[in-house]
Amino acid sequence: MAQSAAPAVFPQSSAAPAPITLPVRAIVPWAVFLGVLMLALLYFVGAEQGATALVSGENVHEWLHDGRHLLGFPCH
Ligand SMILES: [Zn+2]
Repeated sequence: MAQSAAPAVFPQSSAAPAPITLPVRAIVPWAVFLGVLMLALLYFVGAEQGATALVSGENVHEWLHDGRHLLGFPCH
């Protein structure tokens, strides 16, 4: 089957394409929620130890210990 050498002709539209609108008011609450969640996770992985500890004991520290070393936070 031979292909034709003629260029493809696309229909021309005189109407401009509609701009894409982002629902910012719907995204902002989720962005704030995820930001706070990530800050809490960053605190527990990076600073929940010693003088900055909110939870007494070593359970939180030991539970997140591998993540702390993986992300390069100072530990011991
Ligand atoms: Zn460690």
